Amino acid sequence: MTILRNVRLFPRTADAEAVDVEIEDGRFASFTAAEATPSSAASVGPSPAAGGPTHDVTDGFDVIDGAGRALLPSLGDVHAHLDSNRMGQTFRPHTADGTLHGFIMNDRENWRGGERSVRDQANYAIAEIIASGGTRIRSHTQIDADCSLERFVGVRDALADHADVLDSQIVAFPQAGIVTERGVRDLLDAALSEGADLVGGLDPLLYDRDPVAHLDVVFGLAEKHGKGVDIHLHERGSAGVFTVEEIAHRTKTLGLQGQVTISHAFALSSNPDSEVERIVELLAEAGISLTTVAPQNGVLPQAGLRRHRIALGLGEDGQRDYWSPYGDGDLLRRTWQLAFTNGFRRDEDIEACLDIASRGGAQVMAGARPEGTALVDDVVFGLGIGAPADFMLLDADTVTSAIMDCPADRDVYKTGRLVATGGRLVDGER
Ligand SMILES: [Zn+2]
Repeated sequence: MTILRNVRLFPRTADAEAVDVEIEDGRFASFTAAEATPSSAASVGPSPAAGGPTHDVTDGFDVIDGAGRALLPSLGDVHAHLDSNRMGQTFRPHTADGTLHGFIMNDRENWRGGERSVRDQANYAIAEIIASGGTRIRSHTQIDADCSLERFVGVRDALADHADVLDSQIVAFPQAGIVTERGVRDLLDAALSEGADLVGGLDPLLYDRDPVAHLDVVFGLAEKHGKGVDIHLHERGSAGVFTVEEIAHRTKTLGLQGQVTISHAFALSSNPDSEVERIVELLAEAGISLTTVAPQNGVLPQAGLRRHRIALGLGEDGQRDYWSPYGDGDLLRRTWQLAFTNGFRRDEDIEACLDIASRGGAQVMAGARPEGTALVDDVVFGLGIGAPADFMLLDADTVTSAIMDCPADRDVYKTGRLVATGGRLVDGER
């Protein structure tokens, strides 16, 4: 049993009362009004001088002094590309020409010039994500005629290195297309046999120019392997509507409700309101979830998605890679970006962005529909009693102020165990 004393649980006001939290078998067991921390306890674990929280042992319990910090749910990057990031490497100027094909070819020409192996670089990014408060990652891994399974294997092995501190999924992602790139179908097939959790896709109409053939391969492989689907869909306007309809139809026909995600889903930000409402209803009917990376031009109708109980998660996409210099592994900062690009000012709207970044991502990965329960009462994906004790502690008056200030010093816990503090994984966690 772990007792976490004196924390402010998801504080919505600066005067929110502190509580003591009991954690048993990795899950929240109780929340009670805070008591004073005993002074006679024997101190073990990281000392405050070492940058971590104070741990004591009292009557056989591990007692942590929360020091009045805010307790927020851990976050999840559910749209990552761990195989292309360059975080921590020497900065290089951006060289792509700005077209989708140009981005793809720029990455192809340069990724082998990285300063670390794919696995080592993925490990670097994973550590950054965990230290920022992330305890779950869904990463796309590029599979094409150029890299074959090399990038997939590197990411798969890096995620396996962190299996005890991270929930993760891998998407076998045909970044260069399936129809226009030879041999990709068989490579995707192999990746799904070798550990990929989902099969990806990319703009079946506007990039591969053959939506039926593209989606036949994607859904055919999902059916063959009993795996899920996560499709990048940048298509806008009527093209995006067409592809969403095709995806929804195949999802329902194959009984894949809860196992299909559309990433970006720009059709929802580039059509008339009545058409958007129709697509949202279609997505709800097919049990399709969404992810966003909080782009400037692609804001999703969050209120409508919530009303229809469509799971929505947040990701960073690339991180300082061959596609763009943005992204630093900090999911709290990306939560700020989600609030900013939506133009939100009210606390409840900004808190909803943290909800998306935390349990929204967990719901996407689990294939679950949101129940409409408040985050603090959610016993499966939130901070309710019985939920996994995946959380972070940081100095903040409120949830909204934490998102605005993004304090760097965060203590991150996975199933009640400290896994990162002060921006680094704790000793023994790599
Ligand atoms: Zn992406």
